This record gives sequence, structure tokens and C-alpha cells, in this order.
Amino acid sequence: MKIVMCASEVVPFAKTGGLADVAGALPLALEKLNHEVIIIMPKYKSISCPGEYATLGENIKVYFIENDAYFNRPGLYGEKAGDYPDNLDRFSFFSRKALDLLKKINYKPDCIHCHDWQTSLIPVYLKTIYKNKPFYKKIKTILTVHNIGYQGIFNKEEFPKLGLDWSLFNMEALEFYNKINILKGGIIFSDVINTVSPAYSQEMMTKEQGFGLEGVLQKNKDKLFGILNGLDYDLWDPAKDNFIAKKYSSDSLRDKMINKAALQKECKLPLKENIPIFGFVGRLAEQKGIDLIEQVVEKIYQLSIQLVILGTGDLKYHVLLEQIASKYPEQIRLYLKFDDPLAHRIYSGCDVFLMPSRYEPCGLGQMISFKYGTAVVARKTGGLADTVVNFNPLKDEGNGFVFQNPTHEGLLEAMLRAVLAYQDKKKWQALMLRCSQLDFSWQESAKRYIELYQKL
Ligand code: ADP
Repeated sequence: MKIVMCASEVVPFAKTGGLADVAGALPLALEKLNHEVIIIMPKYKSISCPGEYATLGENIKVYFIENDAYFNRPGLYGEKAGDYPDNLDRFSFFSRKALDLLKKINYKPDCIHCHDWQTSLIPVYLKTIYKNKPFYKKIKTILTVHNIGYQGIFNKEEFPKLGLDWSLFNMEALEFYNKINILKGGIIFSDVINTVSPAYSQEMMTKEQGFGLEGVLQKNKDKLFGILNGLDYDLWDPAKDNFIAKKYSSDSLRDKMINKAALQKECKLPLKENIPIFGFVGRLAEQKGIDLIEQVVEKIYQLSIQLVILGTGDLKYHVLLEQIASKYPEQIRLYLKFDDPLAHRIYSGCDVFLMPSRYEPCGLGQMISFKYGTAVVARKTGGLADTVVNFNPLKDEGNGFVFQNPTHEGLLEAMLRAVLAYQDKKKWQALMLRCSQLDFSWQESAKRYIELYQKL
């Protein structure tokens, strides 16, 4: 099949979160299964591509849509002060140019795979403005929703910029409480939609987690699927990881201790082998349960643990975390930045990875952690519910410590279970081994995507 991947961020070119990992790794897995893929993304400031396109994998052409006024900026979607005010202009421009590019390079795919609101106008345009253009007639669309919390909502006054007929500003199309909702348009106009875990595909349709789009999703549930993201083990494998102090695999998990000591040293934490290090890497957003971590920290100073946090995001969490980290310098190290190499060292050096998410469409952190022999404390939601299994010391099963309620009591209780389990060295080693042997590679997920493409 011929597939076009359109995304606003793609590893290794630009990344703010899991979407970039997926948009970079899925094409590679599809290519390995003998399908033809090209990628289209915006040409951000950080990207230099002297030729017509860059290449990924064997022969995946990556095209960059250029517009200096729109994309030659420090951020992808915004900066400290907030989202860029012209994001509607930026991504409607990108969506149209991506479609135009196909004709320009004469590439007629079987389907265009769109991701999130930034590319949700592509299915809308294909079924409206481009409907009568013969070149685009047979092209199908699939939209992957990575997070229903980000919908691309804009004021009604901006509607004319989309180049669409006003008749589309209605409840059955792009209107949402008298505003424009780009993701809603994508959901309605795509031929198939999916999200990034089976559990989240169900949760998205509930009032609690649908962010107002639950009704639209329910209406479209016949074309809604859930496919768990895979993990790119070329990027995330302690046996090949050049960022960490000592490479290791499930056969040499002992060497994880060397990485633990190195992390303690780097973080200027006391070098203690028998104290479990908890790690967190992620966006500092409400979704990720940062407030739970912040509340729990006030209690954990009594526990013998260390905590390393790496993240950027909402200013209020920067401030809150800075306050608590400065209170417990012997136990907590805080990095408020985006730092991929450091993330690798945290996954490899910590004993337990924290994911107290309020909701989590798929989550990569837990899968990365497993590969690095690191257990996970997770709330039972979305992709975490699909992948993290409670540790059971009696049966020697499980890979983490799951809690149900999004409260700091729930998180604390799960962390206490982890601390307790950590005391039994033999069982902990078996737990690490089980984690490191789990397989969440893209192979299986890519096959599921091909099934969806073929459905089209
Ligand atoms: P989301 O897509 O919701 O942000 P995921 O768990 O799916 O969350 O993916 C997060 C990805 O981004 C992981 O690969 C994680 O390691 C990485 N990441 C998040 N924040 C940072 C950071 N501050 N520094 C380095 N890597 C980060």
C-alpha cells in the first residue's frame, strides 16, 4: 500500500510528546512490512533540509512544508506565554499545502494518515474543496487521535480563514458551542478514526474523558478503533543506548546498578544503592497528575526514597515543584527542561517510574521503563490500564503498582507498595526481569494499522 503520514511533529525532526514518537516509528515499521510511506510535516526552525526531502529508514521520503512566517519560530505550537495566536492559520495552511504537495510530486496514496487536530483539516478539505479534483478522488483518510484533550478550538470569527463554506459551521461539522473545533471536523470527515489504546478508545466516549466530544465519538463509534502504540526499540534499548553510563540487557540487569549510581551522581543525590529511586519524565500538565506527585512529596520525605523529575510545561507546576524540590535537596532532584539524553539516563537509572496520569491515551513512559527493567507506578487509565499489571508477590507476576483513584492517597499507597516490594531483592530482580522481557515493539501495532488501511 501507499501511505502518506501527515503530522505536526515527527521524531527525529521535531518533538514535544508521544505523537512525534508514533509519527516517526510507525512509518519505519510499515516500511519493514513492505509498504510504501512518505511523511509530510512543517519545516520548523530547527530543521535544515537542503534537498527536496530528507530520508528516514530505507527509503521513506520526508517532505517539509515551508513558510518562514509560520514555522520559523522557537516553538512548535507556542512559547512560554502560551499558544501562538495564529495556530489556525498555521495548520490550515499546512493541511492544504500537504494536499497540494501530493499533486505537485505526483504521489497518489491509498490513504493519508492524519494525526491530531493539526492535520484534521485534511479529511475535511478532501471531502469539500478537493472533492471534485480527480487527482484526489480515491484517497482515503484515517485520523489518529492521540489525546482528545487537544482539539484546536478557535473563535468563530476565524472561520473564513479556513476557506470552507459557512454551511460547515454547524453542529454536524466543525461547530462546537459556537466555536470552531478542528478535531471534531477530522472525526466526522475521516473515513476511519482510531486512538492509541483499546482502553482509551472506550474512555474517550465517556463524559468524564471525552472533553465534550464524547457524543460525536459515540455517533461515529462504528469507525472508531483502538490500537496500542508500539515503542521504537532502535531508540529505546539499554543494550544500544549511547546516552547511559553502562549498556545492559535483560541478561545483564545487574549493570542497571551502574546506571543507578551514575544517575545519583549526576543528580547530586546521596550515593545509596539500597534506596529506590523514583523517576518522572513528562509534560508538566494536569493530565499527568503532577499535582498528585506534588502532594505526595510532602509525605515521602519520611520514606527512604529518592525522586528525580524531568519535565517542562505549565508554569504553575514549575513553581510548585521548585518549592518542594528545594525543601528536600537530599531526596529530590528537579530538572525543568526538555532533555532527551537525560530522559534516557532516568529510565535506566531509576527503580520505579511514576505515571500518576489523570488520563493517558497510551503513554510511552511505561513501555520505555519496562525495556529498561524499571517497574512502573501507574494509575489505572487508558494505555496504562492496558499495559501495567499489578505486582503480585505470591504469584510472581506483574510489572508495576497500579492505583485506581486519582488522589494523592492512591498514589502514595501504590508507591508504598513499591517501596515494600523493593525490600525483597530476589522478587524485585524477578520483577525487573519480567519488565525487561515485555515486548511492545511496533511490529504488532503496525500490522493492526495495515488492517485499518485495508479496511478503507
Ligand atoms: P505525551 O505524548 O502525552 O506527552 P507519552 O508518555 O506518550 O506522553 O510520551 C512522552 C514522550 O516524551 C516520552 O518519550 C518521554 O520520554 C518524552 N518526554 C516528555 N517530557 C520530556 C522531557 N522534559 N525531556 C525529555 N523527554 C521528555
